[in-house]
Amino acid sequence: VYYLVGVDLGGTKIATALTDTDCQILKYDAVRTEAVRGPEAIIDQMVSEIRRVIEDLPKESVLGIGVACAGLIEPSTGKVLYSPNLDWRDLPLADMIARRLDYPIYVGNDVNMAALGELHYGAGIGKRQIVCVFVGTGIGGGIVIDGHLYEGANGFAGEIGHVTIDWDGPDCPSGNAGCWEGFASGTAMQRRTLAALDRGEPSMLAEMLHGDPSKMRVELIAEAAAKGDALARRIIAETGELLGAGCANLVNILNPERIILGGGVIRGVPELVDMVDAVVRRRALSDAVAGLDVVRARFGREAGVIGAAVLAKLAGKP
Ligand SMILES: [Zn+2]
Repeated sequence: VYYLVGVDLGGTKIATALTDTDCQILKYDAVRTEAVRGPEAIIDQMVSEIRRVIEDLPKESVLGIGVACAGLIEPSTGKVLYSPNLDWRDLPLADMIARRLDYPIYVGNDVNMAALGELHYGAGIGKRQIVCVFVGTGIGGGIVIDGHLYEGANGFAGEIGHVTIDWDGPDCPSGNAGCWEGFASGTAMQRRTLAALDRGEPSMLAEMLHGDPSKMRVELIAEAAAKGDALARRIIAETGELLGAGCANLVNILNPERIILGGGVIRGVPELVDMVDAVVRRRALSDAVAGLDVVRARFGREAGVIGAAVLAKLAGKP
């Protein structure tokens, strides 16, 4: 019997799973990332989590360890070029883990790994041309061409959140202005809602926040919308339009057979999937949408560990 290990290394949480060779989770554990203590301490933390899920399994039964890491990862070396969440630059992550653990180590971008998991074991099964769009605090993507994750020249393909949709739009942490995620992410939904409340638009959300704007969450907007709140419903409708417009761009460029929508915003507001579907059909070239469907991702918070296990299964060649 053989096993794989998948790790999802984020700025707030390290999740670790032991899986079988079909990447089904057998054991799962998550701890808070001790981000302030720096890379060596975080890697020690991760290694002790990996040892915990492997326990006393025979060494040769564990085929490899995949790590999904937030940030720009150089796939060929497993180096983290830049991770804003962890505040890392030019960190040889795969080598640093390999110094502590004698197993094959593979590192990939967390969003790409989530797409890899959907491709092999989730909503992408049976499809070969896929675009995954993950909407959370930002917007991340994974592009699948001919059944393989498309990594681009240096491994940075799929940064769909940073395509420009308004040349004169708001500044983005990426250094660009008018990025898609500045309009259609969960962060943008919260910001637009708060701005409307500031302008004095009537909404039950004012009451629901108890005067504390930092309590604004996408879940709260969804709750207000379900109770018929006009502002909340408008924000969600606009987000559907904004997400749909960006997805229509992707359809016109890539002509996928399936768009998979995932991430916290889609989990919190699942009706966005049908809204995006309708907008894409209206905006994209009609021949490009003929064979297209828009579906929800299968995996939620566990997407990263599953995708990382898939990377290990594929021996680092997605
Ligand atoms: Zn950007």
